Order: sequence, then C-alpha cells, then structure tokens
Amino acid sequence: MRYLSTRDPSRHVSLSQAIAQGISPDGGLFVPESLPSFTPESFEGLTELPQIGARLIAPFAAGDVLGEELDAICREAFTFPAPLVSLPKAAPGTQVLELFHGPTCAFKDFGARFLAACMARIRRKASRKLTILVATSGDTGGAVAAAFHNRPWVDVVVLYPKGRVSERQAQQLSCWGGNVRTFAVHGMFDDCQRMVKEAFLDASLRESHELSSANSINVGRLLPQMVYYAKSSLEHWRATKAPANFIIPTGNLGNAMACVWARQMGLPIGEIVLVTNENRTIPDFLATGAWQPQPSKSTLASAMDVGNPSNMERLRALYPDIANLRSNITAYSVSDLAIRATVRRDFLELGYVWCPHSATAAEVHRHLVSAGSTKPWIIVSTAHPAKFNDIVEPIIGQPVPVPPSLSELLALPRVETDIEPTLSALRSYLQQR
Ligand SMILES: *Cc1c(COP(=O)(O)O)cnc(C)c1O
Repeated sequence: MRYLSTRDPSRHVSLSQAIAQGISPDGGLFVPESLPSFTPESFEGLTELPQIGARLIAPFAAGDVLGEELDAICREAFTFPAPLVSLPKAAPGTQVLELFHGPTCAFKDFGARFLAACMARIRRKASRKLTILVATSGDTGGAVAAAFHNRPWVDVVVLYPKGRVSERQAQQLSCWGGNVRTFAVHGMFDDCQRMVKEAFLDASLRESHELSSANSINVGRLLPQMVYYAKSSLEHWRATKAPANFIIPTGNLGNAMACVWARQMGLPIGEIVLVTNENRTIPDFLATGAWQPQPSKSTLASAMDVGNPSNMERLRALYPDIANLRSNITAYSVSDLAIRATVRRDFLELGYVWCPHSATAAEVHRHLVSAGSTKPWIIVSTAHPAKFNDIVEPIIGQPVPVPPSLSELLALPRVETDIEPTLSALRSYLQQR
C-alpha cells in the first residue's frame, strides 16, 4: 500500500515513511492510495481488538516492514478494552462506546500507543534521536507523553494552550519529565497547531532536529482508531444483523475520519453523525458548501475547540463533491448550555455521567430520538468524566470516582515552560538544549 499527499497525488510514500514524516512536505496529509474491502465474514472468529486490528490493518501495512510485525504491534497497542455499554433507558437499543479505559482516560490512548509501537520499530536502526512535536487541545499530549515516556530513542515536545485545558488535563500534560518537555503556550489550540506546522517547514529546525508529529494528522493514529469501530460494529452486527450507527464528538475530525474509512471498507456501519461544540466550521460547511475555517472558540468541550479541522482535507479527498459528502455525513453543533443540561439530565434520568465532549453526542442522540429516529444508536464517549471533574462535579453535585490510572498521574509533580505563540520562541527553546 502506498500513501499519497492530499495536495499532490504524485508524491507517494510507504506506511513507515508516512508515519515517520507525519505530514507531507507539501503541507498535505497522507491518505492510503486505495481502501481495501472487507465483509463482516472477513473477521469470522475474531472478537478481540488486537486480532481484529491485525486483520484490518494488514492491507495498510502490506509491503512495508511494519507489516511483518503487525501482530506484535497490535498486541502492544491494544492493551485495554473499548466496551459497548447498554443504555436502554435513553431509547431502546442505545449503546455507549466507551473509549476512555486507557492510561490517560481518553480515546487518544489508542492512536498514541499504536504510533509508539510503530515508531519504536521504524527507529530501530536510526542513529539520531527523534523529536516528536505534538500540539494538543488537552488529551493528545497526555496520551502521547504516556506512550513515548522513557523510550530512549525519542524526545517529546508537547504544546498546549495555557489555561484552556482542565486542571487534571494540565497535570497529565506536565507530570512526565525525562524525555518529555511540556510548553504552556500563551494562545489557543490553533496557535499550537500552527507552531507545529511551521516548525516542520522551518529549515533551521529541520537541520538541528529530526522532527516528527504525533497529531491526528499522522496516519499512524487514524489506522488504530478504525479498529474500535470495526470491533463494535461487528459485535452489533453479530447480535442484530443490522449496521451500527455512530454519533461522534468531533474536533479535528481524526476519530470520526477513522469511522468513515471503516465504513467505506465494508464494515457494517450505517449512519455517521458528527457533533461539534460551538466551533461550527464543519456543520456550517455541510449547510452552505463553503469551507470557512474560523478562529477557535473556548467551550466546555475544550478538546474539541478547533476552528480549522485538519482532517477535513482527508474527508474531502474521499468525498470531493459536496452532495456526495452530505449523503454520507451529517453534522450538528451543540452549545455549552446544552452540554450542561445534558450532563445533569442524563445523570438524573439515566444514572450515567458524561464528560463534556461525550455530552455533545448524547444531546444529539436525544434530538434524533425525539425527532422520531428508532435506529439503535451508538453514542461514542471520548473521555472519562473524572478528567473534567472541575466542570462535571458542580453540575451533578457529586464527586466523580477517579480511575486508578488517573490517580497515579495526579500524584506526580508538574514541570512545564511558558511560551509565546510563535515559531521563533519555540525554535530558540529547542535549539538551546
Ligand atoms: C480529541 C478529543 C475529541 C475530538 O477528537 P478529534 O479526533 O479531534 O475529532 C473529542 N473528545 C475528546 C475527549 C478528545 O480528547
């Protein structure tokens, strides 16, 4: 399988190269040249994430050195579950896909761990140390730091928007030390993302550092995210002989893009509904047909505060025509007011506690059901509510129990550096070392 740039299809690289480079030198994103085809029967007898992952990703790694080690990579990456939990009181057949049982309690752990397992193999013979730059709206940085911490072949540089992540997220971003360097950027997530993109295009930094990215622009994060959609849709198919319909909280469109690819490849997936917070770039695009990135707005669902979602370039590469895009995807925007109301109502009525991001999907689920939908929906839950206790606990009036992996990280000291939102500031810090 070859990977092409969304901007210049004549540039193509192998999977290892696409993962190592992160972004194409022309600024485009790598996409697989073609998507393989599967049927539910292709996965007969397979029930666990590592096995389903190895089968699903095999064609994507065909002809690449990573292909030979894919079983081991999947066993290393998929070490925690992605359970489907029934929520019949929300509407008959409703389920939650809980993606927060990894080391940092958000779905980002899947991509980060798979990426680390791949890069460890790609870098085996390298003489130089790799520097991974990661811009984070809150959860990616922690997941990547956890996955790459103490690996001798790599340094990790985390950029997050200061004051715009939850206290516990800030803790998970800055508690590592060692080979992880954390910068609190005086700006928004979009500034962090821009700094990373600029760093890749900067001749001086490219000379002093061997750079790679770990953002959702890296195809090595999208591939493992397809695996939990494959597993949950297969489970649903085996139980009901009907396709699964997903409602997905969306920011940079990485998680949802993986679901779209999985459906395109023949997994039993029906509707895909994207939900953004008040950053409405995607729903507005579907409504008007005009792509108008906006500066990002701060909301309660801060990991989704993205005004210019990078992965849209991949979605548009798959569905270049707006009519085609509209027939494959719907999108809604949910306000902070509705997030609060949903967290409170579902705690009282269902006894289920959402994180603010997952609450956007729960709110749209309510909306679809009250508009008459009788489909068995799967609400995708992207983070554990205990990560956002500062928002959730005042709303429900109770403490949220802290999972053990989170309490371990909360006990560590914090180390971070404040930085202006400019490439030159980042360059001088990195080159000082
Ligand atoms: C990153 C994140 C999102 C958004 O995911 P994208 O892949 O950027 O669309 C949603 N919820 C949580 C908790 C996240 O960490």
